[in-house]
Amino acid sequence: MTPTYIPFNKPYLSGNETRYIDEAVRSGKISGDGMFTMRCHQFFEQELGFKKVLLTTSCTDALEMAALLIDIQPGDEVIMPAYTFVSTPNAFVLRGATIVFADSYALSPNLDPAQLEALITPRTKAIVPVHYAGIACDMDPIMDLARRYNLFVIEDAAQAIDSYYKGRKLGSIGHLAAFSFHETKNIISGEGGMLAINDLQFAERAEVLREKGTNRSSFFRGEVDKYSWVDYGSSFLPSDIIAAFLWAQLENIEDIQRQRRHIWQRYYEALRPLQEIGVGLPLIPDYATNNAHMFHLVCRSLAERTALIERLKAENVHPVFHYLSLHTSPFYAPKHDGRVLPHSDHYSDCLVRLPFYYELTDANQDFINQLLLEFYQQ
Ligand SMILES: *Cc1c(COP(=O)(O)O)cnc(C)c1O
Repeated sequence: MTPTYIPFNKPYLSGNETRYIDEAVRSGKISGDGMFTMRCHQFFEQELGFKKVLLTTSCTDALEMAALLIDIQPGDEVIMPAYTFVSTPNAFVLRGATIVFADSYALSPNLDPAQLEALITPRTKAIVPVHYAGIACDMDPIMDLARRYNLFVIEDAAQAIDSYYKGRKLGSIGHLAAFSFHETKNIISGEGGMLAINDLQFAERAEVLREKGTNRSSFFRGEVDKYSWVDYGSSFLPSDIIAAFLWAQLENIEDIQRQRRHIWQRYYEALRPLQEIGVGLPLIPDYATNNAHMFHLVCRSLAERTALIERLKAENVHPVFHYLSLHTSPFYAPKHDGRVLPHSDHYSDCLVRLPFYYELTDANQDFINQLLLEFYQQ
């Protein structure tokens, strides 16, 4: 008998996605900033308390907007972890920035703030902490450094919806933050993202950049009597069809999060014994919450991880690994300053992400846990 196929991810439909898309289509307006986009904006601003948000077509776009808003110029330096997705540096590289890659903690993939001060030069313009797995970076020392050296902080909150640092929402702490609604995240719209604007000096220009450099948003609010080309810009806004899908997810955020936390907790309880033999489990510091974005293990070696993935795949279970340290990537290695970043490399070699999606059943999860425990008993 072929064992049940257990993929790494499976996009979850909470119920009303196609109904709202149909509504958007029948409303006669499916370009950007329609009714569903407004509902999503209101949800984030009024229910969740963000100062100002703008939906974008991806987190990548939101990061690109952030790089434009803080006016990155060729030669500016931006500090970020080497263990992250390519979009984090790309947004700044597109504007000519030099990326200064920092290492992770030994015990968690997040950026270790203790090494940051030594990386700051007169050319440093921004720090981009990435809340890996939705678990907060230690933001107080990062914001402190930013104040002392007059730097911007842009949170890569792609994985960090519904998560907190000392009671403050992730994505509300830095000057700007970028969220993702890619189908692998907790709340999805296929592709999709959002810029959170916490420093309101950027609010007006963000609207202009997102609307091809025009003041069309002010025009629609009746603040100006015609709309003109007022700045450079691009098209960063999603169709209202995307927002309709997203709205159905946001309406069900509590249910989605409850189920994800249930799955996370079951992995944690079953796999905790592996810590005794030196396998790493997710670490949640006192200052952070868990938004159950992912569950990962940190194997003791690359060979062990390869064997573990092969073992699971033989049973039709499909874990994945990710993030080849960006300072050693074909594109950036020749531009990197040569510092060795051992913790980042360690996660590249040893971190494995287990199947994680709303519809993962307890029985399938028990099967995965049993395979893992058996693998480590051998
Ligand atoms: C998913 C992800 C992104 C990119 O998000 P998109 O919406 O696909 O552009 C960026 N950074 C991190 C850390 C991510 O996990």
